[in-house]
Amino acid sequence: MSLLDDVEKVLISEAEIKERVVTLAAEMNAIYTDDDLPILICILKGAFLFLADFTRHLTFRHELDFMEISSYGRGTTSTGTVRILLDLASDVQGRNVIIVEDIVDTGNTLTYILRNFAARRPASIRVATLLSKPSRRQVEVPLDFVGFEVPDEFVIGYGLDFAEQYRNLPFIGVLKPEVYQNF
Ligand code: 5GP
Repeated sequence: MSLLDDVEKVLISEAEIKERVVTLAAEMNAIYTDDDLPILICILKGAFLFLADFTRHLTFRHELDFMEISSYGRGTTSTGTVRILLDLASDVQGRNVIIVEDIVDTGNTLTYILRNFAARRPASIRVATLLSKPSRRQVEVPLDFVGFEVPDEFVIGYGLDFAEQYRNLPFIGVLKPEVYQNF
């Protein structure tokens, strides 16, 4: 069985993602200048492909850093517990920070991240997320740049995993129910 046989449907195609990444980068290019020298923080692992594509369409000078946050482990529902697995290499005090997320679901992870960043006293902080599932929100979170809103389904591909697999799929899709059941 190939990886693609596990996919029930494609929600957002590779072409749609490519197009949206360009327009989202244009929104950001209209806000920041070289003087702002923002630092984009890629939240690993899910945002790695989004960040890689996105950064290549930004025209202002910027830096990159990475932070890994614990996620769902092998399940598809949040445990509510968030931990930092890998911290930043940079000091963000006084810097313009842009958090780059894969998906905002309940909002708990991002709330944790924003609180954690507030303590580091950046000059400004904005959030870019590829996906948002507004129907699942438990806490209100400020989202400055949103790629797509998705329905209440567990999505995979373009960086997002199920049990660490499927991140390499070039589209956003939904898995067949038997994939979860047989796991
Ligand atoms: P939240 O704390 O907002 O409920 O969840 C945020 C994190 O949960 C995301 O960064 C992501 O790692 C994971 N997550 C939430 N929904 C999905 C989903 O539909 N698919 C995948 N693969 N991960 C998700």
